[in-house]
Amino acid sequence: VHNFVKARRIALAALILTAAAPLPAQPGASSGWTVKPEWVRAHESFLASDALQGRGSATRDEAIAAAYVASQFEGFGLQPAPTMSGYLQTARIIRPRLNGAPALSVGGAPIADVMLLSTSGASVRGMAAIYASEDVAGLPAADVVIATAPKADIAKFARAARQKKIKLLIVKESDATKAWYRGNGNQPSVPSYFEGAPPRERPTLAVLSADAVDRLVARQAGGEIALTMPPMLNEASTTTNAIGYLPGRDPKAGFIVFSAHLDHLGVRPDGTIMHGANDDASGTTAVLELARALASGKPPRRGILFVCYGSEEIGGYGSRYFGAHPPVPLTSIVANIEFEMIGAQDPKLPDGVMMMTGFERSNLGEALRQQGALITSDPYPEQHFFERSDNYQLALTGVVAHTISGWAVPPTYHQPSDTLESLNIAFMTRAIQSLIAPARWLAESDFQPSWKSGGKPTE
Ligand SMILES: [Zn+2]
Repeated sequence: VHNFVKARRIALAALILTAAAPLPAQPGASSGWTVKPEWVRAHESFLASDALQGRGSATRDEAIAAAYVASQFEGFGLQPAPTMSGYLQTARIIRPRLNGAPALSVGGAPIADVMLLSTSGASVRGMAAIYASEDVAGLPAADVVIATAPKADIAKFARAARQKKIKLLIVKESDATKAWYRGNGNQPSVPSYFEGAPPRERPTLAVLSADAVDRLVARQAGGEIALTMPPMLNEASTTTNAIGYLPGRDPKAGFIVFSAHLDHLGVRPDGTIMHGANDDASGTTAVLELARALASGKPPRRGILFVCYGSEEIGGYGSRYFGAHPPVPLTSIVANIEFEMIGAQDPKLPDGVMMMTGFERSNLGEALRQQGALITSDPYPEQHFFERSDNYQLALTGVVAHTISGWAVPPTYHQPSDTLESLNIAFMTRAIQSLIAPARWLAESDFQPSWKSGGKPTE
């Protein structure tokens, strides 16, 4: 009885709706297309749900997110990309884990309570160079370095250690090291690598209490510092990119790539689901809604690839793989726009406006802005966001590639609070809406985006 009554009500409601529905033309949208907040919310409701368990990189949950995106692409009328037989591109990744605890010693005497922030698993021994300054520029290029400045900027020191090929960098515990460790789920980060490729080298970044570092420096004259690493568990898993293709009318006009990453941080060891509603289910939602809008019109002049990458969070593996196995020649890609965290707006930016990383590096941002895109330059160049997202892999190959973001480091960034409830759906909807006409223009025009002098990254 319930079902029958319900069915009748629905039929009746449909009848009323049909009768009362306005004409499809939407006011206020120069693109002739209106992004509906309920569509935006619906993608988020699935991608950021408990059911998807935080879409951990190269997990089954990531594969389910990719299957969802692929299925939406198919429903919007997109095709598999040239040279592909389906909408999914997969790659095998080795994700090493430490199988035990590391041991640190000086002159053979053990040093207790060492915490590793990152490592590629290699044991190290050697006499240490002591570095007391907070200024990262003078960091010595020795195998083992002890940085004794209590306020050393850990992110900068880590970057410098990598550049200088330091094998073991020991630093003092600080709020920043604690936050790093927490942010990585209370375990050291270990670089993944593609199956069949050599493992990636990374300095081991070790943290000791300030007292322990001072004692270590005092005793270091007595002998070598040795870090003995436990064996690694090298688990292989699969990461998945979802790719949809809107063919263009002119095969010589090149391709545009709209992209985002569909993975997030999965479930923390304590069971907390990291939903990643903003990072980067919001970007995935932007790609989906651009796909829906652009597929609904007449075919554009340029072909468009809609790409949602896997395994961004563990080092941009999905985009690396795409860059190494592109379905169309990279030289035919005219521009790439990546969407990262458009679910909240940076209060530093004007109302409704997003930032585009590396805005000054090319002429693309200005051109899109002239077409109505609500974008401006990145207010945090010192954070290197241009280099920290999936756009960078294509940018390194020469493709003009940028990331558009609503707020690059909101308070929810890599926190359990990055949930559906914390999203600003109205802002997201407006943000996506503002990009549809510029995206259509870019796909239709013969405008050739190019790097400005010095803008093209060289790694
Ligand atoms: Zn992230």
